[in-house]
Amino acid sequence: MPLDVLGTDMDKNRLSDVINSVQPSATIGMSQKARAMLAAGKDVIILSQGEPDFETPEHIKTAAVEALASGKTRYTAVDGVPELKQAIQQKFRRDNNLDYNLAEISVAPGGKAILFNAFIATLNPGDEVIIPAPCWVSYPEMVRLCGAKPVVIRTSADTGFKLTGKLLEQAITPKTKWLVLNSPSNPTGSVLSSDDLRALADILRRHQNVLVLTDDIYEHLTYGQANFATLVEVAPDLKDRVLTMNGMSKAYAMTGWRLGYAGGPKWLIAAMRKVMGQSTSNANSIAQYAAIAALNGDQKFLKDWRGVFQRRRDLVCEILNAIGLSCAVPDGAFYVFANCEKFMGKTTSQGTVLTSDVDFAMALLEESLVAIVPGSAFHAPGYFRLSYAESEPVLNSALARLQKFCEDCT
Ligand code: PMP
Ligand code: GLU
Repeated sequence: MPLDVLGTDMDKNRLSDVINSVQPSATIGMSQKARAMLAAGKDVIILSQGEPDFETPEHIKTAAVEALASGKTRYTAVDGVPELKQAIQQKFRRDNNLDYNLAEISVAPGGKAILFNAFIATLNPGDEVIIPAPCWVSYPEMVRLCGAKPVVIRTSADTGFKLTGKLLEQAITPKTKWLVLNSPSNPTGSVLSSDDLRALADILRRHQNVLVLTDDIYEHLTYGQANFATLVEVAPDLKDRVLTMNGMSKAYAMTGWRLGYAGGPKWLIAAMRKVMGQSTSNANSIAQYAAIAALNGDQKFLKDWRGVFQRRRDLVCEILNAIGLSCAVPDGAFYVFANCEKFMGKTTSQGTVLTSDVDFAMALLEESLVAIVPGSAFHAPGYFRLSYAESEPVLNSALARLQKFCEDCT
């Protein structure tokens, strides 16, 4: 079963070559398919979408209500109101030991918009963007949308799905424009330590033309001994060519508010502002004021949420490994990335022959009503991603269905 079963009906003849070269988002596609089944009355459990199940905390919602009541309903400065930029500046100082002035900070409608603005502002046809895989679905497609070439390099489970200096060095060519780093990683949950980042910085120092985008959106979700670090913190000399990206979606359970931000060199931030000035304009004004309250407010709940996620992670990993869907216990984010190769060639109780991870995910959805995302979507066939950003009872039900699905395969 090919992955484009997740696509939508489009009249390719009427579309641009660029859009025809791009895959639809499989994370969103799987979740939409699952939601449609739910709406049709099927009792589907959705573990395909990466979004916290927690509510946005009350003090953040209150700030939004106040912003609305006080008329903060107009266009704002294109890349963010000064008060929000100040809150971001303080966040970077407090959490990351980074010093960005306000002209080095950009706010956009979502982390996705930050990434897109940065790519569209810098990529020319033929430029290459190095993306370590397994990778989040949108990086390669965004690069394609900008007319450039994603260079996806596979990392392996044996090295904890981490990019090594050696792999990086091999991938760099004179055409390399960007390297994308995402730690904690979506989909593997792998976390780059300060030492890992230092090793990459050593290589990057030899390649002055390579820009680096660090996607730190899962920053607050690390477990056990793992500590979050970001590239500029460990290699301040690279600051003038790194875009340190982050956002409100995952840490503060604000996915629907659409607010992302970044710190980076002034020339790049100015170019991203130019993109926004001709495309989206500012991020939602009310969300900006809510984000100020989130960043300046009490951060204690982040620790409590982390504890909840860690318990769920342990529960899920234990059961998956017991079923024979092997997975390492990830150090961060809220995903488990498990291997389903053992089930290839087997037949489900409803007669589906499983020949790929896509077959596995689609059969699990259609026959056992659990939505996950096949590894192929993350450039890692043979795996699947399960999001544990759901309550323990829901996870237990999903795992029971998954276990039965696997046990019934012959
Ligand atoms: N980066 C990664 C790795 C993600 O998983 C997501 C989630 N969609 C994003 C960026 C973008 O998040 P948002 O646009 O909601 O800020
Ligand atoms: N980042 C989340 C995920 O991977 C949300 C959906 C998306 O934007 O891809 O599921």
